[in-house]
This record gives sequence, structure tokens and C-alpha cells, in this order.
Amino acid sequence: MRVIRAPQQMGQAVDRLRARGQRIGVVPTMGALHEGHCSLIRRAARECDAVIVTIFVNPLQFGPREDFRRYPRPLATDLRLAASAGATLAFVPPAASVFPPGFQTRIAVGRLGAIWEGKVRPGHFTGVATVVSILFNLTRPHRAYFGQKDFQQAVIIKKMAKDLDMAIDVVICPTIRENDGLAMSSRNFYLNKDERKAATIINKCLTQTTELIKSGIIDIESIRRFMKEKLSEEPLITEIQYASMYSPQTLDELERAGKEALLAIALKIGKTRLIDNMIVNP
Ligand code: AMP
Repeated sequence: MRVIRAPQQMGQAVDRLRARGQRIGVVPTMGALHEGHCSLIRRAARECDAVIVTIFVNPLQFGPREDFRRYPRPLATDLRLAASAGATLAFVPPAASVFPPGFQTRIAVGRLGAIWEGKVRPGHFTGVATVVSILFNLTRPHRAYFGQKDFQQAVIIKKMAKDLDMAIDVVICPTIRENDGLAMSSRNFYLNKDERKAATIINKCLTQTTELIKSGIIDIESIRRFMKEKLSEEPLITEIQYASMYSPQTLDELERAGKEALLAIALKIGKTRLIDNMIVNP
């Protein structure tokens, strides 16, 4: 696997791949890679001729009181994991080459970016969409791989690619979990032992709510109440930001579970913010 830092070199590498007719897959990440990221890289390696993993902790998507500075950056391990999952190129641009002095353009994502995460993290998806479109322009992929774990992000990127005619196939891949069901996340590293144990309540809540819906309880009030009660069993939860049932297409709250419903949760355990979701087909 070749490691590229300069955007100009990335452009040249992509020129060569495209000249040879190779299909390019890109997996954008912020590093601190785990099995969730690796599953995206492996899928890209199966479906594409060349796989570019981008590793960039994007300052634009962090709020002023968020964890940008302390976000983990274990680059040597990341490169080893990316290579063994099948990446052919790692793109690790310095922040100053992505956002040089005077940079001022932003992608506005509209309604989809203002709800859910957008309510709690204003400007977050503008930051995500802006950096992802820069990374798309630098890597010019045929396909781009995102995790269902960040469902809203995947939906927004899919919509952006379509609205802006980017001709990139956005692929959403399943959430990879620890043995006890906790969705893998770079932020799980922040949890101490008790908090790590407490975090399993998220998956328990999602799976039990799925069972409730499958048993025929499909109205939003019952589902919201059940999720809230389940989560309140865990004393280490310091804040529940959202926990409800939504349409996977519009991300609006669903009055009744229909053919497909999405359960999504965002909460804090201690100071650590965790999100997860599950699709239910009742
Ligand atoms: P991040 O490094 O957190 O920005 O994530 C990079 C990509 O990996 C995003 O598309 C995430 O949705 C995806 N991802 C993160 N965690 C998981 C997981 N547990 N399973 C599948 N994909 C994931």
C-alpha cells in the first residue's frame, strides 16, 4: 500500500489509475481504524480495482466544545490495518493542504442536515459534506463506502452525490459490532471499564424495541416510551439526545412502523457521546 500526503500526488495517482481503466473505491475515515472501517475497505477491495482509504480528522465537522484535539490519531497502526484489509493507497493529507489559508466555501446540506445530529451538532454536516466533496474531487472514485452506523451521514452523502451529479455510487455497509453488541466506534476508546459495560444498553434497547415492533406494537408513543424506559435503567447515561423511530428515507419521525422503520439513538455516557441505529422490517 502506498501512502500519499500531497493532494497533487493523489491527483497524479488517480490519473494513472483512470488511464488504465481501473475502478476506484474510496473509504473516507478519520483514522483510529477498527473492524468497522476494515469491513468497508474489504468490501471496496472486492468490488473495485483500487481502494483509496483517506485518513483525515476534519476540523470543520467538530463543534467548539467537541473532541477534535483529543481525537485518537494512531497513524502507524491505521496504515497497517488499512493495508491488511486490502487498501492500495492511503491518502493522509495535512490539514493545511485541505483547508489552505483563505478557504471559505461550504456545502449547505439542507433539511436532512438540520435534524437529528444536526440539531445537537449545528454545522456538523456542512463540515462533513464539504470535506467529503473535497476528498471526492481529489480521489475521483467510482464508488464510495460509508457505514450504516452513521446513518444520517450516509443518507446526506448519497443525496449530495445525486443532487450535485457527482456520478459516484455511494454504498452503505452494515454496522460492525463488538461481541456484546456495542457498535464499534473510535469514540469507544474514551469509555472507562464501567462506562464500556453501560454502553451495551444501546444495542439492548435497539434489539428489544425491534422485538416489540415485530410483536405488533407499532405506534410512536409506545415505542418512544419503551426506549426511554429501557435507557433509564442505565444510571451512567448522563444525557439522552434522541431515541425514537424514523423513516429511513426522510429521517422524519414515523407515526407508525410501516414496511421499514429506523430506530436511532444518540446519548452520552459520562462525557462520551455515542450513536447507533437499527433498521426494522416488521
Ligand atoms: P469515522 O472514521 O468515524 O469518520 O468513520 C469512517 C467510516 O466508517 C464512516 O463511513 C462510518 O460510518 C464507518 N464506520 C464507523 N464505525 C463503523 C462500524 N461499527 N461499522 C461499520 N462502519 C462503520
